[in-house]
Amino acid sequence: MIKPEAAAAGHAGKILDMITGNGFRVVAFKYTRLSAEEAGTFYAVHKERPFYGELVEYMASGPIFAAILEKANAVEDFRKLIGATDPAQAAEGTIRKRFAESKAKNAVHGSDSDENAAIEGAFFFTGREQY
Ligand code: ADP
Ligand code: MG
Repeated sequence: MIKPEAAAAGHAGKILDMITGNGFRVVAFKYTRLSAEEAGTFYAVHKERPFYGELVEYMASGPIFAAILEKANAVEDFRKLIGATDPAQAAEGTIRKRFAESKAKNAVHGSDSDENAAIEGAFFFTGREQY
């Protein structure tokens, strides 16, 4: 996902360019908005974390771009491309170093495993929206 603040700031084109320029193939892509309930479901794994309420409110605060991306070693390589959760810790040349505002408003979401990537992809896209 390209998160609400990055989408609102008009960074989606540059972020997508970094993604495709680093060898990821776009399988599916859409501009959409999560309700608070949907954001809560999407981030249910973080339910017990102190920032969960803030995270859900933020992710439902405006439209986002959702994508399914394909590449060998995609999860690990995408996390390398986006950089650390906290942009202050993110390496030079990463998406979060360039576009994140803060640890909470950190521009992009990346799946943390192949299993979760499949669940998260199916959350946003039907089979006929994936190519
Ligand atoms: P990542 O997105 O790098 O996988 P996490 O899965 O740990 O990071 O957290 C999910 C999201 O929750 C982060 O991308 C960020 O938007 C938010 N978040 C994480 N830690 C904090 C925190 N300490 N305070 C506020 N928001 C946070
Ligand atoms: Mg995560």
